[in-house]
Amino acid sequence: MKFDTTVVRAGITPDPTTGAIVPPIYQTATYVLDEVGKDKGFDYTRSSNPTRSVLEANLAAIEGGKYASSFASGMAAVDTCMKLLAAGDHVVCSDDVYGGVSRHFNRVLEGYGLSFTYVDTAQPETVRQAIRPETRMLWIETPSNPLLKITDVEAMAAIARESDLIFGVDSTFATPVYLRPLELGADIVMHSTTKYLSGHNQLIGGVLVTNREDLQEKFKFIQKTIGAVPSPFDCWLNLLGLKTLHLRMARHSENGQAVAEFLEAHAKISRVIYPGLASHPQHAIAKAQMTGFAGMISFELKGGLEAGKTVMNAVELCGLAESLGAVETMITHPATMTHVEVPVEERHARGLSDGLVRLSVGIEDVEDIIADLEQALAKA
Ligand code: PLP
Repeated sequence: MKFDTTVVRAGITPDPTTGAIVPPIYQTATYVLDEVGKDKGFDYTRSSNPTRSVLEANLAAIEGGKYASSFASGMAAVDTCMKLLAAGDHVVCSDDVYGGVSRHFNRVLEGYGLSFTYVDTAQPETVRQAIRPETRMLWIETPSNPLLKITDVEAMAAIARESDLIFGVDSTFATPVYLRPLELGADIVMHSTTKYLSGHNQLIGGVLVTNREDLQEKFKFIQKTIGAVPSPFDCWLNLLGLKTLHLRMARHSENGQAVAEFLEAHAKISRVIYPGLASHPQHAIAKAQMTGFAGMISFELKGGLEAGKTVMNAVELCGLAESLGAVETMITHPATMTHVEVPVEERHARGLSDGLVRLSVGIEDVEDIIADLEQALAKA
């Protein structure tokens, strides 16, 4: 199957009892056994559920992996990866990651004896230098949230192989439409399915995809043991959202490029970060490893924080909201919203200024999005 067909069809067959073309929502906690020791493949929904199985098969195929495990949130998926590790282990991690990820690492997992070093993974040499004898994992986010730094996935895979590290990629911003981390050597691809993979702001979810049977066995064991699983209804909603992934992403990218170019040319803007702009510091790597750049843009205004706040409060079509990757255009202030728990000195050291504005460009008519930004910028 070609990619667009895989998105719509992979893992989905008509329901055997009714022929329903849409997989049913198996909203059940448990399943009646035929006899002791003989079930129909399902016994308890924390362990597995038919609607979830369809979602996992679909997601694995879309990401080009053998196995997928779905979770109740992106954070539950990240947490499951970290549960591959044991006290004393060390992780090298991209310095610009979603604030909830670094909060989890620093304020929860450090308490269980894991340690984390944050480096600019756009610079392969700094990654090599951060590796210690107890390092077990390399964790990257590309493009990163919110500075949209691009990490060379193949270069990281080579470093991970040299030092025998598990290599995980948070590919939430790129989606499998534009980046194929498993083909570039990653062991694990993680997504917050809350974002582009469901696409309509309709659920919170996460997924881990891998080709490695050893990792999959552990993921499934952790999934059923801890129970951070998505509800059957959320799995069903996610499946509906996924069917238009390729079409939505094409429009997100087209609109993203147009809005980035509009912002870059605007007199009140000092800096625009979008991987599809030639001015992006890692534009060459982005072009080499991605086939599109999606809808995430960050920018700063010449008037700094105050001007940024004015814009965020003045938009009408764009929603001032925490999330991203949905059909509606959303605008966010990372310093007070998504990354509020990253200590201020650390935020500034990473280049995340208080004036940075993050835009998730949706799939509306781009002229309406630009007109809204234009009127808001006029007030700044
Ligand atoms: N990874 C990235 C890049 C994110 O942007 C987010 C959430 O914004 C997460 C992980 C966490 O996902 P969730 O909110 O679904 O738990």
